Amino acid sequence: MTRARWTWAIVLAAFVAAVAGVFVGRALITPRPTPSAELHEVLHRQLHLDAGQQARLEVLERRFALRRSAIELEMRADNTRLAAAIEAEHGDGPQVNAAVDASHQAMGELQKATLAHIFAMRQILRPDQAKAFDRAVVKALTANPQ
Ligand SMILES: [Zn+2]
Repeated sequence: MTRARWTWAIVLAAFVAAVAGVFVGRALITPRPTPSAELHEVLHRQLHLDAGQQARLEVLERRFALRRSAIELEMRADNTRLAAAIEAEHGDGPQVNAAVDASHQAMGELQKATLAHIFAMRQILRPDQAKAFDRAVVKALTANPQ
C-alpha cells in the first residue's frame, strides 16, 4: 500500500469516527438541527393541536423514537465494522466496501423512517393545519437539504 493510500485511509477513519461521534451526540442531545426537528417545532408551537391530536402525536413520537434508536444503534455497529475493516484491509477492500454499503443502507432506512413519521404526523392534522404543515415540510427540506 502506498503512503498516499494509507494517509487517505487514516483520513477516512477519522471522518468515520467524527460521523459516529455526531450520531452518538445527536442521539443524546434532543433538539436536533434536522428538517424533522423544525417540523416538530411547527407542530408543537404553531398548529395549536387539540388534546386528541396531542395524545395521538405522543404515540407517534414514542414509536418513531424507538425506531430511530434502533437504526442509530445499527449505524454505530456499522461504523465499528467499518473501522475494523479499515484496520484489517488498510484500503478499500471487500470488507470496507461491504461496511460502507451497510452504513448507507442504515442511513437510507433512517431517512425512510423519518419520512414515514412525517406522513404519519400529517395524518392527525385538520386540513387547515395540514396546509401549514406542508409549507413547513417544503421549507425544511429546501432550507436544509440532506
Ligand atoms: Zn414527530
